Amino acid sequence: MSGFSVNEAGYYGNFGGAYIPEMLYPNVEELRASYIKIITSEDFQHEFNHLLETYVGRPTPLYFASRLSSKYGAKIYLKREDLCHTGAHKVNNTIGQILLAKKLGKDKIIAETGAGQHGVATATVCALMGMECTVYMGEVDMARQKPNVERMKILGAEVKAATSGSKTLKDATNEAMRHWINNPDDTHYIIGSVVGPHPYPDMVARFQSVISEEIKRQLYDLEGKHSPDYLLACVGGGSNAAGAFYHFLEDTKVKLIAAEAAGHGIETNKSAATTFIGKSGVLHGSKTLLMQTGDGQVVEPHSISAGLDYPGIGPLHAHLFDSGRASFYAITDEEAMIAGVELSKLEGIIPAIESAHALAVLGKMDFDERDVMVLNLSGRGDKDLETYIKWGKY
Ligand SMILES: *Cc1c(COP(=O)(O)O)cnc(C)c1O
Repeated sequence: MSGFSVNEAGYYGNFGGAYIPEMLYPNVEELRASYIKIITSEDFQHEFNHLLETYVGRPTPLYFASRLSSKYGAKIYLKREDLCHTGAHKVNNTIGQILLAKKLGKDKIIAETGAGQHGVATATVCALMGMECTVYMGEVDMARQKPNVERMKILGAEVKAATSGSKTLKDATNEAMRHWINNPDDTHYIIGSVVGPHPYPDMVARFQSVISEEIKRQLYDLEGKHSPDYLLACVGGGSNAAGAFYHFLEDTKVKLIAAEAAGHGIETNKSAATTFIGKSGVLHGSKTLLMQTGDGQVVEPHSISAGLDYPGIGPLHAHLFDSGRASFYAITDEEAMIAGVELSKLEGIIPAIESAHALAVLGKMDFDERDVMVLNLSGRGDKDLETYIKWGKY
């Protein structure tokens, strides 16, 4: 049984598929028809793994956090994706997709970005490969995330402002799709999470699955077994969680836990906790859970962490929620900030505020002291320094 893998039609249970304008069909179909053959080829795997090792810095450590473990009464390991080049897991995917683009004969890359993190990870690999890079970003987001805009420019990317609608992520997505429709032959569109039309969610999950592949091997060396009792990760679109869960999805002894951003609280309308307040609908080309009004308008999300500030989740996670395979927790801004500062003081690691949402789940669980927990520390907190300072309670 592979109940949690994507099926032929691109679905995970009731979620997924490719809900795209007809004009986009040839581009998406080209990808769908070729992605598995290309990324499983020996040649591709060799190049991908070589770059992960020599450029990204993989394998990332699986670190036993002893002071954090004492505090929560379980054996807690941190998977250190924060040590990846560019400071988070996102680069695992952009390396994979740019290699795929090369194999497909494309020499131009487009992407859309909300907070700029995926834009930076994309601009980085475009510089690495000498490819032309255009990143669409909402005008409002460009003003809010100036340092990332400048990073992308330093890396040689062109950042184009999306000036329609609310001038945020969904408008940037629309612009990127339009660009792709008009430039199907020479351009690849790099999506940054396990979202978008099939085959993107599966393709991105496969690139990020290196995380769980390493966890299995590293845990065996440290604990004498391949599987933890618990696996915990934060979910924005869901790519770091998908990568950490991937090789454990069918192993139901491993309890999967996802942390979503509750923002000011799920009862307020300033939240991004999709599984708590979202409903089934179509977002970014796939059927999934998303936050929407009664008449289907997408609700603007809120989270203190830019990376979790997304109105939906990927279709795999919608299925993990729907089927009960994973448990979901909603973590408020305040809870995340407290957990971020706690890790800093206990372990000397300042986490990204996204990852701090996963850390905040620890205090809500009942552990047996023999329980082994692996927490995917998706990114480092350097980019969030200003938010930590503004919050001020440390
Ligand atoms: C972007 C980001 C996330 C959220 O994206 P996912 O696709 O859900 O992983 C989480 N953590 C960090 C550090 C990020 O940069």
